[in-house]
Amino acid sequence: MLDPFGSRARELVKELGGIEAVLERIPSYVAPDLALKRVSWLRSGEIPDDVSEMDDLMDLMTFYALLGALAFSPYGLEGELVKDANMRIYSERIKRDQNLAELSIPLKTTDKNEIPSKDAFILERRGEGNLGPEKKEELRLKYKLHLSDFLEFWEGSLKEIYVRDGYAYVTKGNVLKLWEKAFEHNIERAVSVLYEIKDELPGYYTELHEKLNALAREVFKERLERYGSAEAAPLRFEFFPPCIKKAMGGVPAGLRNYAITVLLTSFLSYARICPNPPKRDVRVRDCVQDLNVLEREVIPLIVEAGNRCTPPLFEDQPHEIKNIWYHLGFGLTDKPSLEDSGNSPWYFPPNCDKVRANAPALCNPDRDCRHIKNPLTYYLRKLYFEGRTGKAAGENGGEENG
Ligand code: SF4
Repeated sequence: MLDPFGSRARELVKELGGIEAVLERIPSYVAPDLALKRVSWLRSGEIPDDVSEMDDLMDLMTFYALLGALAFSPYGLEGELVKDANMRIYSERIKRDQNLAELSIPLKTTDKNEIPSKDAFILERRGEGNLGPEKKEELRLKYKLHLSDFLEFWEGSLKEIYVRDGYAYVTKGNVLKLWEKAFEHNIERAVSVLYEIKDELPGYYTELHEKLNALAREVFKERLERYGSAEAAPLRFEFFPPCIKKAMGGVPAGLRNYAITVLLTSFLSYARICPNPPKRDVRVRDCVQDLNVLEREVIPLIVEAGNRCTPPLFEDQPHEIKNIWYHLGFGLTDKPSLEDSGNSPWYFPPNCDKVRANAPALCNPDRDCRHIKNPLTYYLRKLYFEGRTGKAAGENGGEENG
């Protein structure tokens, strides 16, 4: 298979009864170690033959097994490992294959005569001097795709692209670059959908996630030592989604309880102490050794946001503080101890559709909201991309200083 999000993959998923049915079947078909084989080769740099030549069904099953595991930490080293290794596997296949019709980007093969001869002449000359047959083949505009589809994934300069009648004409090398962007985007979208149903996934995926996490730590050991891990860390307010920023600024009476007690309390507590909950029904005491961070960092932010409301929430309803602790999982109390965690459920941040249904005035989505379905994933995604950019800059700097 050339693309796990392409037409052949979609056909197979349909035959198997849809994506949820595929995820249910995987545990009886794919041993965790077989799924891990798709990524563990990355250390050596050599893709094993049995991975690169897997039949379509096993290819799909092992790849989706890894996606199911990523539902438990959508933006972390595990995701990077899965993306990097699989991008290499599929890129190699795409390079070898001549028929790219099954890719998830809507490509058309060009007709030899559709480029006017004067344009073809100019295009042929752009390589300068006499080109060998291989180079000529490399530069051939064998494919085209609608400009709007092209612009969605193209990050290079437009100067090098031939555009005619609403189509961008591209070489196989261009197709590969476009496909890589589309692949990243598709993984992100798939994992964000699976994140919403992670509590319904079989235990197999938590087990696979643990193994994937250990492997990712091994593969990215050097980077972890240099930059630390992206786990519980001080909050980065600049990465908060619009709804959280709005709640932090204080809201009017009709919105106060939902904005402060439901949304802000769950978001700030998970974002600060347990951004990637390891299991369903996690308790605060599974994530911290004492209540310091909650009492000194999280609760003051909630109280300050409550005080910015009109009228101020806790002046008006002093007992609401007990409700805050209740939502943090300590039961109705205003003097909690760590042992109390688990007395009530620790509420997870509501999904965006719930926020929109319960408090539409809080939701003013920005561009990044397009990629997520939960305010916490918005935050994790921003942290992840910032970390990736910072690491890339650090790594380049290291080489220069080298
Ligand atoms: S789309 Fe989601 S994250 Fe974005 S503002 Fe609305 S509720 Fe918040």
